[in-house]
Amino acid sequence: MTLAAVRRAEAALLLPTYDRQPVLFRRGSGCTLYDATGRRYLDFLSGIGVNALGYGHPAIRRALGQQAGRLIHVSNLFYHDYQAALARRLKKISGLDRVFFTNSGTEAIEGALKLARAYARLHSPNGHRPRWRILALENSFHGRTFAALAATGQRKYRAPFAPLVPGVRFVRFNNLRDLERKFDSTVSAVLLEPIQGEGGIHPVSPEFFARARALTRRANALLIADEIQCGLGRTGRYFAYQGYGIQPDVVTVAKPLAAGLPLGAILARERVALAFHPGIHGTTFGGGPLACAVALEFLETLERERLLARVRRLGAYFRARLEELRTKYDWIREVRGAGLMLALELEFPGKAIVREALARGVILNCTHDTVLRFLPPYIIQERDVDQVVRTLGAIFARVDAERRSEKK
Ligand SMILES: *Cc1c(COP(=O)(O)O)cnc(C)c1O
Repeated sequence: MTLAAVRRAEAALLLPTYDRQPVLFRRGSGCTLYDATGRRYLDFLSGIGVNALGYGHPAIRRALGQQAGRLIHVSNLFYHDYQAALARRLKKISGLDRVFFTNSGTEAIEGALKLARAYARLHSPNGHRPRWRILALENSFHGRTFAALAATGQRKYRAPFAPLVPGVRFVRFNNLRDLERKFDSTVSAVLLEPIQGEGGIHPVSPEFFARARALTRRANALLIADEIQCGLGRTGRYFAYQGYGIQPDVVTVAKPLAAGLPLGAILARERVALAFHPGIHGTTFGGGPLACAVALEFLETLERERLLARVRRLGAYFRARLEELRTKYDWIREVRGAGLMLALELEFPGKAIVREALARGVILNCTHDTVLRFLPPYIIQERDVDQVVRTLGAIFARVDAERRSEKK
C-alpha cells in the first residue's frame, strides 16, 4: 500500500487518537529509517526513546530469532528461563532487590502505585487509616491508564477523563516549600521523574530530590522514581537517580528495556516488594520469555559495547553543538537535559520545525509545544550529530530571516 492508501484506510478504521506525520516506514538499519519510497531518515527520536540500539542490531536480531523459535509466551502460571536472569541483571544495576514485569510504562506505574497502597496498609498502626495519598509533580507524565493519568500533572491529559483515581496531590515543580507543606501523615508515596520527559526535559533539582528522599524515609513512605524515559542508560548512567546519589524505594522502567518489544518493570527494595503476595497483582503478557530474553540481550549489549560511556561522550558533544545554535539565535531560550536526553526550548511552537526537519530527512519531536526533544539511539556517531545540527542550522537560518522580515 502507498502512504495515501494507508492514510485513507486508517482514517476510516482506527480510533482517531493520533495525528501522525505523513511518512510510511518500511525498514530500519542502524540509526536510519527508510520509508515506502526508499527515502532515508536519520532518527533522533528512536520511537520515543525505545530503540536505544537503533534498528536491526545483530545481537538483538539473534536473540529475537532464537527465542521466537523456542518459546514466545507461557503466562505467569509457569516458570521460564529469563525472568530471574533479567531480574538479577536489573538488581545489579539498580541497587534494588526484586522485580515485577509489565507490558508497558503505564502498567508499571499502576503496579507501583498499588504497591505503595499495599505497603502503607501493611505498615499502618492498628486502628489508623493507612496512608493513601500520592504526591506527584506538576507538569509530570506517567501514562494514560487511570491511576497513571491521575498522577500526571497536566490538565490537557486529565480533564477529558475526570473523575480520575482519587488521592493524588500535585506539588509545584522543584518547589521545596510546596513539597514540605503537602507532605503530611496521609502521604504514602512521592512519585517523580528525575528528568521530566514529555513535560519538556526538566531535571528535578538535587535539593528537591534529596528533600523528597528525606521526607519519605522519615515517614516510612515510598520514594518512587519513574525512569521509564530517563532510565536504562539514556542519561549516560543506568538510572538518572544515580546522578543524584539518591536511592529510591521503587523504580519504574520500560521504553528501551526490550529493544522495541513491549516490556516494562517495577523494581523495588526488599521490604517494599514483600508487601505483595501471590494473587494480589498480576498480568497475562508481562515478562514473557521472548521479551525477557531480548531485554537480557539489550542489557548485555549496553555493557559489552560500553554504551553508557558513549552516551556520555556523544551527549556532551551534541549538547555543545546545540549550545552553539543557542548563542546564534536569541529566540532559543535554553538547552537542557543529560546524556542523550536533550532539549532545545524555543520562544514559539516547534511543530513547523519538526515537520521541516522530517522533510529534510531528520526525525525529531516537539513536546510541550515549544520544546524540541532529542532521544537518539545510543549508537549514534559524531557525524550523525553533525548532520542533525546542520539540518537545524539551515531551518533556523530561514526561520530567523522570516522573523526579522516580519518585525520590520
Ligand atoms: C512514556 C512514559 C510513560 C508511559 O509509558 P507507556 O509505555 O506509554 O505506557 C510513563 N512515564 C514516563 C516518564 C514516560 O516517558
